[in-house]
Amino acid sequence: MSSKYEWGILGYITFGRLWNAIKILTSYQISRVLKRPIVWGGPWSFSIEPTNHCNLKCPECPSGLGALTRPLGILRPEQFETYAKSIKKHAFYVQLFFQGEPFVNKFMPELIRIAHKNNLYVAISTNGILLDDDRIDAILQDPPDKLIFSIDGLDEETYQNYRIGGTFSEAFSGLERLMKKKRAMKLTRPFVEFQFIVMKQNEHQLDAVFALGKQHGVNKVTLKTMQVYSKESADHFLPTDEKFRRYLVDANGLRIKGTFRNECFALWRTSVITWDGKVVPCCFDKDAHFVLGSMNSNSFREIWTSKPYQDFRQSLLDDRSQHEMCRNCTEGVKINVV
Ligand code: SF4
Repeated sequence: MSSKYEWGILGYITFGRLWNAIKILTSYQISRVLKRPIVWGGPWSFSIEPTNHCNLKCPECPSGLGALTRPLGILRPEQFETYAKSIKKHAFYVQLFFQGEPFVNKFMPELIRIAHKNNLYVAISTNGILLDDDRIDAILQDPPDKLIFSIDGLDEETYQNYRIGGTFSEAFSGLERLMKKKRAMKLTRPFVEFQFIVMKQNEHQLDAVFALGKQHGVNKVTLKTMQVYSKESADHFLPTDEKFRRYLVDANGLRIKGTFRNECFALWRTSVITWDGKVVPCCFDKDAHFVLGSMNSNSFREIWTSKPYQDFRQSLLDDRSQHEMCRNCTEGVKINVV
């Protein structure tokens, strides 16, 4: 296995971005003490949504289930260029994914190029199914810095238990093809992560996941705990091994393990832009219930320092548990990745 550390990210940290990160860290600590939001600087990372369309129908995902109430669409390169220019002073890390499957958007190679033109590190998470030879050739012209393959089963039965509408052979051949071409072209990018959400139905395969990752030369294998929304889903999907569960489940329902404080660093270090320009606080706001502004009418800086954003930060400093999504969130609790 080649390096499991993402050293490539260091190349995107300029003096100005480092100074911004120091300002963000400092203002967050002051806010925790004063219990009121003070924000110096801008977020160093973003999730920007290429599309909220998906080719699968995973049962715990609002996008795949068709349960999103917000419009469906595709991020266009000219929009993304505007976003990239407006955030590049302070940001260096862009996740080109949020809801949906990124490679449904045919402009992905162009989006990656635009990000790199603006000196932004690009991470993409995919189910791998759409990665045929043509798409791989197109993205390897200017490869993303990191590519995460979410494949949660090592045979058809375990895979299709959750990834409804896909097959293990399609998903894994996307990863195999990418690794083969990366090797043949002697590329150092993308950093490839094989991500596996641990469930009752696949927990017997964990040793095999690491062996398969090693066999194919991926940089890193990550086991993730699963997010669910109901006791029924918890009973159906959560693994029997406690260390791969983020919830305590009893007759009354489920709650995240560990204790929350009334704070959330995510509201200082990161932000999310949907395909149609809405700014929402974090990746847990999948259906954009907390729209803090729109990139179509304001600059990111105006939105970041606006009253809606500050009021939302204040609401968490007052009482994080008042928001349902914050009660089902692992921010500040070290249980997300094993
Ligand atoms: S869900 Fe709430 S606590 Fe979690 S990251 Fe988002 S705003 Fe912060």
